[in-house]
Amino acid sequence: MTHLPNSVHGRDIRYLLHPVTNARAHEKHGPLVIARGEGVRVFDETGKDYIEGLAGLWSVALGFSEERLVDAAHRQMQRLPYMHLFASKGHEPSVLLAEKLIEMTPEGLDRVHFTNSGSEANDTVVKMIWFYNNAIGRPEKKKFIGRVKGYHGITVAAGSLTGIPANHKGFDLPLDFVRHVSTPHYWRFGQDGETEDQFSDRLADELEQTILAEGSETVAAFIGEPLMGAGGVIVPPTGYWDKVQAVCRKHGVLIVADEVINGFGRTGKMFACETYDIRPDVLVLSKQLTSSYQPLAAIVFSDAIYQGIADGSEAFGTFAHGYTTSGHPVATAVGLECVSIIEERDLVTHAAKMGEILRAGLSKYSDHPFVGEVRGTGLIAAIEFVSDKATKAGFDSVGLASSAVVAASQRHGLILRVAGDAVCFCPPMIITEHEVQDLLHRFDQAMEEVFCAAGRIASTV
Ligand code: PMP
Repeated sequence: MTHLPNSVHGRDIRYLLHPVTNARAHEKHGPLVIARGEGVRVFDETGKDYIEGLAGLWSVALGFSEERLVDAAHRQMQRLPYMHLFASKGHEPSVLLAEKLIEMTPEGLDRVHFTNSGSEANDTVVKMIWFYNNAIGRPEKKKFIGRVKGYHGITVAAGSLTGIPANHKGFDLPLDFVRHVSTPHYWRFGQDGETEDQFSDRLADELEQTILAEGSETVAAFIGEPLMGAGGVIVPPTGYWDKVQAVCRKHGVLIVADEVINGFGRTGKMFACETYDIRPDVLVLSKQLTSSYQPLAAIVFSDAIYQGIADGSEAFGTFAHGYTTSGHPVATAVGLECVSIIEERDLVTHAAKMGEILRAGLSKYSDHPFVGEVRGTGLIAAIEFVSDKATKAGFDSVGLASSAVVAASQRHGLILRVAGDAVCFCPPMIITEHEVQDLLHRFDQAMEEVFCAAGRIASTV
């Protein structure tokens, strides 16, 4: 058996296959073991502190020590630690959270279905829309359109909706009910002389041509993150969502807004559908819903879809979909408390202000010879590295500079994330101004370590 250099408090760590990890590389260096968390910081086994610049996986809105979430979980564990929702069973926290989500989310969304993760939620959305279309007599309307660089999870259907090649490689994905259209990234894919609006027109036209080529009677839904997260924090160009929605409506294609990262304040408003004026038929939420203290996702959808599914459930005998832990009482109790805290403390406004400071701090790198774009909105941002600023060329080996910067950041006590040639920032929404400055200082140190002052790439890259 391979010998890892690390152990966790004397325990053997060889038995764990880590998600989204190069297992062979992991065998050599072992894990960074995080022992505890406090506010926006986590601490490793040696006591070294790190600012969690990505809020875990874009998710720990309230930081790593919110007692009220712990208390909510504890109270619910004592009262009713588990009950399912199958076969007309119910429990209070799932009902209350569903009601709360309907009250908060944009108009036109009237029903909620819970799952445990964003991937399960998107997988379930595919099944719900298939079931709905079968129930209303449109059995041929089954295809989904996603986008290159879109991220919607990793289960078989959700992984197919995802448009990132790394998530398909080796897994025989995507399945062929999915088509992918272009990434709405103006800086990277806008053509010479093309305005942002013209770029949006071109992409809307591509979407329309794709729907027509497939036959609109076969296309069920378009799925997109209002602002792309895991693909590298890609802010949609002006006019994009208006034009895309118009195309979808014209051809009877449902709109699924995946706000698993965007939701609950990331883009400066409670939901990115408000930021970009999107009226989805289905809204997918997770992550900040519980600050990831509990696994939970919510599918919030229109009454029209509900009515079709309800009819189908009667015609087929039942809506035979759900998980043992769908709408788990502890998860939904924590979700309700988390959402209440975000509202009570007006963290959406706070995060928007902190985002401005963060993005202002990062914008000084716009002139850096190896930085192509500094981008973001609200409290989510990215810096994309290039090997040649004039041509915007990336690196021969994708992620060369971004990986070096993320590794150096970690040495300087800042956890960030690589997305191709970009480095992503998405700190907890409770971050203070002082902590944003601390984050920026740690990032400056990492940049200095990786790129020498003369502007040449140092040997570490
Ligand atoms: N959708 C989006 C937009 C996401 O960012 C993610 C996770 N990063 C998912 C879906 C999948 O969620 P999970 O990891 O909980 O399955």
